[in-house]
This record gives sequence, structure tokens and C-alpha cells, in this order.
Amino acid sequence: MIRENIFEVRKRIISACLKAGRAPETLKLIAVSKNRSPEEIKEALLAGITAFGENRVQEALLKYNAKELALSAKPIEWHMVGHLQTNKVKDAVKIFDLIQSVDSLRLAQEINKEALKINKVQEILLEVKISPEATKFGLSPEETPAVIREASGFKNLKIKGLMAVAPILKSPEETRPYFRLLKDLRGRLDSKMILSMGMTDDFAVAIEEGSDMLRIGRAIFES
Ligand SMILES: *Cc1c(COP(=O)(O)O)cnc(C)c1O
Repeated sequence: MIRENIFEVRKRIISACLKAGRAPETLKLIAVSKNRSPEEIKEALLAGITAFGENRVQEALLKYNAKELALSAKPIEWHMVGHLQTNKVKDAVKIFDLIQSVDSLRLAQEINKEALKINKVQEILLEVKISPEATKFGLSPEETPAVIREASGFKNLKIKGLMAVAPILKSPEETRPYFRLLKDLRGRLDSKMILSMGMTDDFAVAIEEGSDMLRIGRAIFES
């Protein structure tokens, strides 16, 4: 069932790309595996998914070390997509390839400090709050430029782009202005930054609005 879901999601990604005149290879798909078992992750892995998103460090650690996933031919890429508390940063830098949910300068500082200790340059995205209804967390668009200026001096941190969650609305079309807001912000900051936007209910619109990275959970793991 997970395999069929992934096939279906890929088809929908390709048709959204065709509509938007984009090449599907330019989009990265992250399967959001929070609350899913190692067995479910393994099914997705066997269907060709290589990157997984988690929202809790403890849960991610269990999966990172799960014996069911240890024999995977390809190395699994782990992404943190949930709010990260500073006391969990030490473990987070050990396991995550990309921390997508950096929502304060203080957190960026802490990540830089712990990454230095293990001699790693931690890649991150800054989470921007594009809608007050969608999440409690995230930098305001107004404060984002200053945080980037400060954090770009951190030697063990690399800011790769911006992440955002759109509000849940009656139709996906209504999320378009929110995605556009993130894209416009990127345009004013650094056109090389990637945009992580688009989830189960709104990824087609996110693709049309220039998303580089989709974070999809339910469409992959639910029947
Ligand atoms: C849960 C979650 C997702 C995936 O959401 P779905 O609607 O299940 O696709 C994506 N991003 C974040 C930050 C999440 O917490």
C-alpha cells in the first residue's frame, strides 16, 4: 500500500511539474515518517524513497538506530521538520542531515556550538511563519534577514534555504499567496536558497509556486 501511495504521489508530482513547466528531477521528496514504524519506513525505502522527515529527536534516534533499517543499501537521509528544543540539539546534530525547522537565532547558535564539538557543518533551513494559523513556530518574514546576517557568520552552520507550513484551508488554491510570500522573501534574500514547502494537501500548488523540497506524510503512509 505504501508502495502504491508513493507511485501515486510521484504521478501527481510529475503532472504538477508538467503544468508548471518544471523538470520533476529538480524537486526533492521528503517522506515525513513521524509516528510511523521502522517497518513502514522500510517499505518506503524499498519503493525508492531516500529521505525521511521526523519531528521529534527521541523518536528519530530510535529509527536512526533501528536494526530493520540498518541493512539499507543506500544511506538514509534524515531531516528534522519539527520544533527543536535547545536541550535536544546535541543529539539532533548527530543524526540529521538537514534541520529544516530552525526558528530562532538562539537555536542556530546552539546548533553551531554542538556541530563544532563533533566537527560537522550542519545544514539547516530557517522556518518562516507565513501564517499565524499554521504553526506556533517560525521566524517572522521581517526578522528573517537579520537572523541570516547573524547566522551566516557561524562556521559550523550552513543555511541552505527556507521552510514554511501553509495554513489548512478549504481549497489548496487558497494556499498560493502563502507560498508566494515565502518565494518573494527568498527573492529579496538570496536566489540560491532552496524552498521547502508543500505537504499532502497542498503540494501541487507549492510546486507551481517554485518549491524545491516537498514534505509529504499522509499521502505516502495512510490508506
Ligand atoms: C507532519 C508534517 C508534514 C507532513 O504533513 P502531511 O500533511 O502528512 O503531508 C510536513 N511538514 C511538517 C513540518 C510536518 O510537521
